Amino acid sequence: MIDLRSDTVTKPTPDMLKYMMEAEVGDDVYKEDPSVNQLEEYMAELFGMDAALYFPTGTMANQAAIKLLTNPSEQLICDKWAHVYNYEGGGVAFNSGVSCKLIDGDRGKITADQVQKAINPPDFYHSPMSTLVCLENTTNKGGGACYHLDDIKAIKKVCDENDLKLHLDGARLFNAIVANNHDPKEFGALFDTISICLSKGLGAPMGTILLGKKEVMQNAMRVRKVLGGGMRQVGFAASAVYYALHHHVDRMVDDHRRAKEISDVLKTENYVSKVEKTETNIVIFYLNESVIKEAEFLSYLENNKIRISTMGEGKMRIVTHLDYSEEDHQKILEVLKI
Ligand SMILES: *Cc1c(COP(=O)(O)O)cnc(C)c1O
Repeated sequence: MIDLRSDTVTKPTPDMLKYMMEAEVGDDVYKEDPSVNQLEEYMAELFGMDAALYFPTGTMANQAAIKLLTNPSEQLICDKWAHVYNYEGGGVAFNSGVSCKLIDGDRGKITADQVQKAINPPDFYHSPMSTLVCLENTTNKGGGACYHLDDIKAIKKVCDENDLKLHLDGARLFNAIVANNHDPKEFGALFDTISICLSKGLGAPMGTILLGKKEVMQNAMRVRKVLGGGMRQVGFAASAVYYALHHHVDRMVDDHRRAKEISDVLKTENYVSKVEKTETNIVIFYLNESVIKEAEFLSYLENNKIRISTMGEGKMRIVTHLDYSEEDHQKILEVLKI
């Protein structure tokens, strides 16, 4: 089966497994796991940020960041498609007691002007205090769209002028970095906190890193503890991440090329009504259901041993990743030509 539902389906490569087996470990709750410590130091240095902390999941890292940057009753500003709003179980309300002001962005991206307009006047005590902006890069629901750095800088300026904090949900930040030749430090300089998933395109089995400024991260260990995320000999998993950061970053260009090639084939097929712009490893397209029904299309793929995801109402998603080979790719390009 060729599984293109998500880039979370990858399994550790034999070399990664070997590296994991040789990891030096200790009790990370005592901060005595050398593999975790090495990973955290490496990531903080790579992004030029003060500190890093290893979390079991991206959701927990985002939730911790929001907790660290807000107080109950306050409001955060994000795109209407944001993961923190849609896919974290309402955790912003549950864990931090904050509400979300949603922005009608473009493929999951918002602008400085939209942020400016979404800020509640601080002296108007009837409204929640706006205190945090959460961005996503690349955007998940927005089909892997990337921000221009200038647009983030403009948002950062609005945040500084209005005393707002800025968090980046960088679940797929390495895809954005590779696709646009960014220097990771450019992101480190702009955000109070950044979460980065290592269990997606990078192919590690689990884990997300939260990066942040010293003042913020001082309390991050306690918040992680409260959320139940303190782990013990987790260096086995952290070493897989360390391995992935050294072997699986540059190869993301292949995922991006393949996604683009899939997108180019889909554009020529009459059963497709629209293909969203493909910038990284996610292809979003809409079926022309007068030509083929969603269930029919999915079973056609299933019969060809291919799995993709549906987002409802004929909206389909394909995600390329480490376990998707060139051979798989050539097969799919043929199968998609119906
Ligand atoms: C996957 C993802 C996360 C975190 O997901 P987990 O499954 O909790 O690791 C957060 N934000 C975005 C945009 C994502 O795509």
